[in-house]
Amino acid sequence: MSQDCIFCKIVSGEIPGEVVYRDDKIIAFKDINPAAPVHLLVIPIEHIVNLTEVEVAHQDLLGHILIKSKEIAAEQGIAESGYRLVANTNEDGGQVVFHLHFHIIGGKPLGRFA
Ligand code: 5GP
Ligand code: ZN
Repeated sequence: MSQDCIFCKIVSGEIPGEVVYRDDKIIAFKDINPAAPVHLLVIPIEHIVNLTEVEVAHQDLLGHILIKSKEIAAEQGIAESGYRLVANTNEDGGQVVFHLHFHIIGGKPLGRFA
């Protein structure tokens, strides 16, 4: 838990979030400003700033995030049509919230990267 971290506050329930999945390691919730018909954020409950801070000790957690993201995408009905799993990292990566999160974005053609 990091004070003043908006995603830690969603984890604790201090601020509301439309949570679609929760277990003891992660939560997934709807992005407040969706870029596509399906736009979810999958985050570890542990406050990790971004991918630059992950370590070998996080291996199981990261694997869990990938497997659950796959399941959530299927539940959302976008597995067949396709989707993107994105972790924006630091300034050039466009990171705005500094609590590790993976965007699941789909439900429309996303095109190529810029
Ligand atoms: P980043 O640019 O850091 O990868 O993405 C942060 C994402 O968090 C953005 O897509 C933004 O819309 C979303 N976001 C920011 N604040 C909130 C919030 O309070 N609640 C929810 N559900 N999403 C948020
Ligand atoms: Zn946090």
